[in-house]
Amino acid sequence: MDEKTSHPTGSDGERPVCVHCGRTAEGGTVPATWVCSVEDGRRQYVCEACARTHIRAIEGRLDSEWW
Ligand SMILES: [Zn+2]
Repeated sequence: MDEKTSHPTGSDGERPVCVHCGRTAEGGTVPATWVCSVEDGRRQYVCEACARTHIRAIEGRLDSEWW
């Protein structure tokens, strides 16, 4: 995976936490392997492991307005 991303890392004190397992991203930045989604204007993250598990549901939710 390419580790260089243009993801804006949260500078507003918002820590990236997996919405499924509660795992916190190391260093306070979101790894490229994590999935970021927006629901109701709130940013949500899913860790690599959960992204693989829930990839279908995630894609289904993002399909309408994120991608
Ligand atoms: Zn997780």
